[in-house]
This record gives sequence, C-alpha cells and structure tokens, in this order.
Amino acid sequence: MSPVRGREASAGAGAGAAGAAGANGPGGGARSVLEVRDLKKHFPVHGGLLRRRAGSVFAVDGISFEIQAGETLGLVGESGSGKSTAGKSILRLIDPTAGQVVLNGEDVTRAPAHRLRALRRQMQMVFQDPYASLNPRLSAETIVAEPLRNYGVVAKREIRDRVVALFERVGLTGESMVKYPHEFSGGQRQRLGVARALALEPALIVADEPVSALDVSVQAQVLNLLMDLQQDANLAFLFISHDLAVVEHISHRVAVMYLGKIVELTDRRKLFEEPLHPYTQALLSAAPVPDPRSRRRRIILKGDIPSPINPPSGCAFHTRCPMVEPRCRTEAPVMRTVAAGHDVACHLH
Ligand code: SF4
Repeated sequence: MSPVRGREASAGAGAGAAGAAGANGPGGGARSVLEVRDLKKHFPVHGGLLRRRAGSVFAVDGISFEIQAGETLGLVGESGSGKSTAGKSILRLIDPTAGQVVLNGEDVTRAPAHRLRALRRQMQMVFQDPYASLNPRLSAETIVAEPLRNYGVVAKREIRDRVVALFERVGLTGESMVKYPHEFSGGQRQRLGVARALALEPALIVADEPVSALDVSVQAQVLNLLMDLQQDANLAFLFISHDLAVVEHISHRVAVMYLGKIVELTDRRKLFEEPLHPYTQALLSAAPVPDPRSRRRRIILKGDIPSPINPPSGCAFHTRCPMVEPRCRTEAPVMRTVAAGHDVACHLH
C-alpha cells in the first residue's frame, strides 16, 4: 500500500461515539454532517409451517457516532459484524428498526418520501463491486448524467459540460464517455462509480468496501482520489472496510464493530497504536505488518463470529475473548469515554 498517502492529522480528536458535538473536525469547523444515534436494524426470522416469526437477526444493535465535514470515519470489523447493514440503514436503502440518523440537522429516519428524495441528494453510496452497481446497457456518460437529469439540478444544456468536468475530476478521459461499463478496467469502473456519486455534490459519501475488489496498486490510486476529492469538497466519508491497512490510510477516526455493536471508537493513531478493546487488539495482531523486524504477538481468536440471530449474553465477545471475566458472561459492557476522544465498551476499561 505504499503509494497511498496516509492521513497526517489525527483529525476529529475528541469526537466520541455519542458525545462528539463541539469537537473540531478536519476542516477546522465543528459541524457534524452526520449524527447516528442508537441505530438498530433487526431482521425478522420466520420458521415453522406457518412461517411465524421465530426470532430476529440483530444485524445492527444500537450504534452511535458522528462524522464532521471533511472527516472520514472508518468502520471496521469481520464479515458479519453488521458494517454494510449499518451503511444501508444510514442511507435508508433499508429502513432502520429504531434509532435516529440526522443529516445536516434533518432527521433522515422519519423523513417522508418527498424529503427523503431531497436528502438522498446529499448522501451517496460507492459500492464494493462497481460492475454490479453500473447499468451495463448504459454508456458511461448516461450513467453519470442520470442523477443530474433525475434531480434536474442543472439545465439540460449544461449536463454534458458537468459530466465532462466530473470525468476529468476522477481521472477519466473525455473519450471514455462513450464506453460501456464492461469496456473499463476495475479501477476505471470504480472511478466511474465515484463520478456518479459526486454528480449531485453530496455532503456525505458512504463507501462500502470500495477498493476490496481492486488490485493493490489500483486500490492506492482510488484511495488517493477519494482523499483528494474529500479535501476539495469538504466531504464527509463513512468508509466501510474489513481491511485494516486501507482503513488506517484513509480514516481520521475509526469505529470497530462486533456483532452489530461498536466496541471501540477513537482517532486513527490511538486505535492503531494503543488499541484498548481485546477485539481490536486481536484484529490488529492478525493484520500483516510491512516491517520484518516487528515482533507483534499474534492473538488467535477462538472460533468464528457467533450468529447475530442468537448473540451471546453479556458481552457479545465473551465467547472468544482471551481476557474474559465471570461478569462478562452476564453483564453487557456499556460504551465509556476512557480518555479524550477514546470510547470503549469493555469491563476492563
Ligand atoms: S467485557 Fe469481558 S469479554 Fe468483553 S471484551 Fe471486555 S474483557 Fe472481553
């Protein structure tokens, strides 16, 4: 990942999971673009002959955080931790079960259809698989122009100029506007997805594993592009990924998710240098380190992540935690601020 420029500033320091108001963001302001409060998404599980409700999948189970303008919050965790469901619930691509999502001061969760359409202009998504998210029957120009037409934000005669500018901004040539998605490389397709997401000049982009399907060298280019675009437009990013190296490079702050809950949230430097939650410590210990002299102790976690249909009692991590105590099996730890801008949910802290 060497070509990727890392974040120099530990921006957003002091912005805890639920108490970030007032903390200075990367842009130097104190404005939260996104506030997520106790967000839950439970999917019903049906069983038996009559297909009666037999339980719930607790995919997202009460997460809270804020993201400021110009800030990237990385959301990490193993597959099945609820990261992607959280992203979709925030954008209301699926309806949350409970909690609140506030975008620039307006409640997304309770917005009626006509307001939701206006709010959707301000929040866009970049998907993991750009090929699946782009209509193969449309030219690249039509794909990027579509949101501009749908929302009528620019006069018809100006749409082409706007599309040309967007292509240029994401590093695609004007000639490629006539191509179809299958004629682009993976990295170019992701640039196209980014151009489409930027067309409506959103305030927030939720990027769900946006580089995990790309080669490492191309990953670096797309990450650098996202960082440049963020700086230019003061965009807020929720960057969802299982790849800790990628998250370390692009994020200002990082939230670690386990079985639908955030277990640790702090700035990038603290998370990677002084992780406090045993799950974060285990995740980091398993990540490859480029320095061959590094003697980092590997923490092997027992078993797979448990099913979110029947999560363990007490601390959901107790079945795998190397530091488990008797009370962890019965008592769920609450998120606590243990230092400025460092929140952890663990009885040890
Ligand atoms: S609360 Fe207990 S089981 Fe959970 S992470 Fe902390 S020590 Fe481990």
